[in-house]
Amino acid sequence: MQGAGVSAERFDHFMARANAAYYANRKFGQDFITSPEITQVFGELLGAWAKIVWQMAGAPEDIILAEAGPGRGLLMEDALRVWPTRKVHFIETSPALRAEQASRVPYAQWHDNLASIPSGPMILLANEFLDTLPVRQFIRRESGWMERYVEHGAYVELPADYNLPDDPVGSVREVNEAALAFVRTLSARGAIGLFIDYGPSESAAGESVQAIRNCAYADPLTAPGEADLTAHVDFAALKRAVHAQGPIKQNHFLTALGLYQRSDRLAQRHPEKAMDLRLSVQRLTAPEAMGSLFKVLAVCPPGLPPLPGFE
Ligand code: SAH
Repeated sequence: MQGAGVSAERFDHFMARANAAYYANRKFGQDFITSPEITQVFGELLGAWAKIVWQMAGAPEDIILAEAGPGRGLLMEDALRVWPTRKVHFIETSPALRAEQASRVPYAQWHDNLASIPSGPMILLANEFLDTLPVRQFIRRESGWMERYVEHGAYVELPADYNLPDDPVGSVREVNEAALAFVRTLSARGAIGLFIDYGPSESAAGESVQAIRNCAYADPLTAPGEADLTAHVDFAALKRAVHAQGPIKQNHFLTALGLYQRSDRLAQRHPEKAMDLRLSVQRLTAPEAMGSLFKVLAVCPPGLPPLPGFE
């Protein structure tokens, strides 16, 4: 496993390439299901959250509502029902998913990254976006920290040029530089960002990269582009990098925003959906699953009172 040839690709570069290919093929939606796909109430609550945050910020008229990694566009479609803002900007790299998003929010504008979104007040939503961004992977050997590369479908290692804690031999550390850069850019422009993702609340050693292919766990290195590669989001690292509220558990956040009440009201209007709605709510809040494994972090300027759900 040691040593690497000239064709070795750093693991985060491999992951970025594999995911770009995966999302370009729009396999998304077939291999896993996300909260906005589970129930419309999820996006509606986030729309309500954004509206209240906008009011707390003095209701600037030129507010931009942005979303990073909008997938099929359901979250934004649902959010806009509650808060019909006109200036909608999407950060999305997959042409196929852009087309699908356009079918739901035709007047949106698309960007490859944050940099090209016009300046001005902005609220950004992101569900299961940071976990798809590429991580660097380091492994502690007797000789010190090594960094993982990929060559001919296998891991190889090179001495790491990176400052890491003194973990026991055999430990793995992951660093999501792309996620850190994203929240730093957002924070520097004074925007407010809501990030919902799978991850622990404390930074810890451990390998979290996983590949899902045809709805099953797969080897991350086999058939790049055929599997969705994700890594747990290190919320504590994000919080050390920028000013933020949280992270809190998804079930606390959604419950505080009125998940149960909104689902009940919807069930009363559509009794045929009542059973589905009850199951969806359970799925989003289950303490042993999505409810507590998913965390919510709000990147925001210092000095704001607690944002809705973070009280
Ligand atoms: N938020 C959606 C989709 C999550 S999947 C949901 O909850 O259902 C991840 C999304 O991020 C996809 O839309 C994917 O195309 C997009 N994405 C992945 N990497 C990206 C990158 N580097 N830049 C912009 N978008 C990216």
